[in-house]
Amino acid sequence: MPSHDVLIIGAGLAGQRAALAAAQTGATVAIISKVHPVRSHSVAAAGGINAALNPEDTWESHAFDTIKGSDYLGDQDAIEIMTREAPAEMLWLEHAGVTFYRNETGNLGTRAFGGASAARTYYVADITGHAILHVLYEQLMKHSDTVDRFEEWFGTDLLQDDDGRCIGAVCRNLRDGELQVFNAKNTILANGGAGQAYKPTTNGLIVTGDGISQAYRIGARLMDMEMVQYHPTTLAGNGLLITEGARGEGAWLLNAKGERFMEKYAPNKLELASRDVVSRAEQTEINEGNGFPDGTVALDITRVPRRRVLEALREIVNIGRDFAGVDITREPIHIHPGQHYIMGGVKTDVDGQTTIPGLYAAGEVACVSVHGGNRLGANSLLDTLIFGRRSGEHAAAQGLQMPMPTTPVTRVNDTDRAIRAIINRSEGGRRVSAIKDELGETMNQYAAVFRDAAGLQTAHEIIRRLKEEAPKAVIDDRGTVFNQDVIGAIELGYMLDVAETILVAAMERKESRGAQYRTDFPARNDDEWLKHIDISANGADEPKVDYSPVTITRWEPQERTY
Ligand SMILES: Cc1cc2nc3c(=O)[nH]c(=O)nc-3n(C[C@H](O)[C@H](O)[C@H](O)COP(=O)(O)OP(=O)(O)OC[C@H]3O[C@@H](n4cnc5c(N)ncnc54)[C@H](O)[C@@H]3O)c2cc1C
Repeated sequence: MPSHDVLIIGAGLAGQRAALAAAQTGATVAIISKVHPVRSHSVAAAGGINAALNPEDTWESHAFDTIKGSDYLGDQDAIEIMTREAPAEMLWLEHAGVTFYRNETGNLGTRAFGGASAARTYYVADITGHAILHVLYEQLMKHSDTVDRFEEWFGTDLLQDDDGRCIGAVCRNLRDGELQVFNAKNTILANGGAGQAYKPTTNGLIVTGDGISQAYRIGARLMDMEMVQYHPTTLAGNGLLITEGARGEGAWLLNAKGERFMEKYAPNKLELASRDVVSRAEQTEINEGNGFPDGTVALDITRVPRRRVLEALREIVNIGRDFAGVDITREPIHIHPGQHYIMGGVKTDVDGQTTIPGLYAAGEVACVSVHGGNRLGANSLLDTLIFGRRSGEHAAAQGLQMPMPTTPVTRVNDTDRAIRAIINRSEGGRRVSAIKDELGETMNQYAAVFRDAAGLQTAHEIIRRLKEEAPKAVIDDRGTVFNQDVIGAIELGYMLDVAETILVAAMERKESRGAQYRTDFPARNDDEWLKHIDISANGADEPKVDYSPVTITRWEPQERTY
């Protein structure tokens, strides 16, 4: 049985950064990923990563922008750590081999991003995540004596001992269906987000909320689940992302009348207001009949010199051409707000510790909370790296002091039975894909840019019905080799859990803050709602709601305008 000081589930930026940090302490590490690590969703990150590295910039300015962006729901102690540690992390990445853009003076160059009062986004063209992920993977190779990689293994269930401590996980080898207990002193969840609970989404098919649901199922608290980010510039129909880097380089948003409508909504920051503000502005224009017949507004990138677009935004040139038939260097492209990121997740402290002993979380699966009600663009890559590293260091240091748990191999039996039950389902139920489509469309209709009690309640009733239908959903593949049908059926359960926790938290928060805009409670209400909503399962059929305080250190809440 594999036994390690630290087990990391997920090999995107958060997981690989955690693995490197843990390995550097001398701990033994297992890192597992349901896809090859460099296919993790971090590879899609385009626009860049924030750090106050320029001499004229300060971490305090970065921290304030992040807090304001979060609509004052972010925890200021965690934000201070992230923004203070950002410059050193950036330099570490550079020294490790990430080829960040350098300007004509030979210095690291930046681009502007939304909600930021300085241009502090460092980037590699529009493939920043790709570049960082590959460098981390190369660096991991140096530690092959202490880091065991389990590529194309799927974590199905977290394991606990009699005292409730997490002691590892059951995982399935996707190549042959073998189940294995992974024994670990500490386990770090780095499974990424849950965008596939929405349709459409900018997130890939693998982003299915596995870690959030697995932690929730064993009693961990989730936090800020109502805060779901809609990105202002996604393609109609397929949800593909046009990076914020385009607006950072100078692109404008126009309605169907050719008006630069952001002048009305955010006269100072215009297109570079924070994402919740821009998405609401676009949706308002569309709802008021100022959009195009396909339910979109236009992003005009022709304002950016063609040479610069081809140098710095070449991926979105390809996306525009291949997926919308538009040459973005010559004509505006139609876009609208689309699901992109989940600010909520498994509640952690600043070292990644969750409310379950022995269980850590880092990256998009986690909620530290540095993003609060709304994440600033280019702060997620930073979050994955800072808190991935801190989780890896902490879990390893703790693990080196502890005895290895002894987990019986029979702990695979429950998972084995559950998988056999999926394979043996009789005909007659709905297809997994049909249920997943209904889930995603429901969330996109009722838990999107604008929400109200009636819609959220309707969505919750639909999700409860889908939760009853999911265990009967039929699959075709009954084999053991790369059986994605079985995995799809398991992931559907995770996404339904995530959806329900989002809806319950969104119904609970009776105010508008950040990404949660309640048309029935349109104002922010600090007196009653300047607090986190925590959600846990605790054996109850429906999610249980608790509250926890927002940590405010030196930045008192103010009116938020851009
Ligand atoms: C199109 C796009 C562009 C973006 N651009 C930017 C940007 O420019 N700047 C920025 O800051 N942020 C950006 N983001 C957000 C950012 O990329 C993500 O939030 C971040 O990369 C998430 O990293 P992660 O390590 O938490 O998870 P991921 O990179 O999603 O990795 C998750 C890992 O978990 C594994 N996994 C999941 N479930 C299981 C399981 N059950 N068993 C085993 N393994 C499992 C996966 O295989 C994968 O290895 C963008 C997001 C998208 C969608």
